[in-house]
Amino acid sequence: MNERIYLASPHMSEQGYEEQYVKEAFETNWVAPLGPNVTNFEKELAQYVGVKSASALSSGTAAIHLGLKALGVTTGDVVFCSTLTFSASCNPILYLGATPVFIDSNALTWNMCPKALKLAFENAEKNNQLPKAVVVVNLYGQSADMDPILELCQQYTVPILEDAAESLGATYKGRMSGTIGDIGIYSFNGNKIITTSGGGMMVSNNEDYTKKATFWATQSREAERHYEHKEIGYNYRMSNVVAGIGRGQLKVLNDRIAKKKEIYETYKEGFRDIEDIQMMNICDFGESNYWLSVMTLKEDSKVKPLDIMLALESENIESRPVWKPMHLQPVFKQYPFFTATKEIPFSEDYFNRGVCLPSDTKMTKEQQEFIIKLIKQLFEQ
Ligand SMILES: *Cc1c(COP(=O)(O)O)cnc(C)c1O
Repeated sequence: MNERIYLASPHMSEQGYEEQYVKEAFETNWVAPLGPNVTNFEKELAQYVGVKSASALSSGTAAIHLGLKALGVTTGDVVFCSTLTFSASCNPILYLGATPVFIDSNALTWNMCPKALKLAFENAEKNNQLPKAVVVVNLYGQSADMDPILELCQQYTVPILEDAAESLGATYKGRMSGTIGDIGIYSFNGNKIITTSGGGMMVSNNEDYTKKATFWATQSREAERHYEHKEIGYNYRMSNVVAGIGRGQLKVLNDRIAKKKEIYETYKEGFRDIEDIQMMNICDFGESNYWLSVMTLKEDSKVKPLDIMLALESENIESRPVWKPMHLQPVFKQYPFFTATKEIPFSEDYFNRGVCLPSDTKMTKEQQEFIIKLIKQLFEQ
């Protein structure tokens, strides 16, 4: 059997930066939450993306949870959320006792469709229940088209939480993905573009939000000698060991993006003469971080997404479908959904026709050529 090729797996720096920071944590016995790596990781990441402040947390999901809480989301509220995403984008809406309303994607960005968002706002206004926040997801490394979304949210004075779990390092019109909304979040889960094995970060230019998040994440402990609590707390803080891995990974983030882009370009070139295959559109409003290379098959293609996934799996190569939209999930299907198209919603269409291809930065050129050959063979039969 071939050595397994992954969709995206942890890739530590060749220089051993991560180990160095972790070693320092051991040597100084900062094997505890908090400590210099945590503070420095926050500073370094905030600097990288160009925001005033950051709060290092135990996961991207925790960051969304506390981010929505910081925006005032509470029981009985409504929160708009992109439907084409991972469930962690919207689970925290339910943790807070609020109701999600799902918004379709558009064709060009795969992300939140401004027209569908407008319909949802108009409906909410009519029913006298505007959302408390809008969760905008930046899928597979590409930013949503933020300007029209910002304009609508400003018109209705509703804040944006940018779920940039997959898009760290990507840009939109010169600004870093995750820094355009009121609050942004990143994930350092094992398969993300950089990883700490598990972790997340909340960023904002409003320090009140990140300070509040750090406070809640450390059990809402008041500044007293004894343990004094005036609010419900959470154990959501990132540990000093984990933050050490993050500091090392941040040093190679630009290398990882360059490699991910090369992987995407190689697929694009490799499938150029296969009419039924289209690579995910990359918009010219910014740079993607190309976290995953995603392709779609034409609707009438004889080869189906499952054929590709099975062909790859038989060679021990990982691939997977595009995220199943949240409004189709059994657990969320009772909640409202807005789309601007009369045809099949874009999110459903991409789910039906898409395949996430192996995009591991440790994959060799030869391995990728092999993947391309395997897929092309399916069209020759
Ligand atoms: C990974 C991911 C998350 C959750 O991050 P965790 O660190 O795994 O909790 C949230 N949203 C999206 C879009 C993701 O891909």
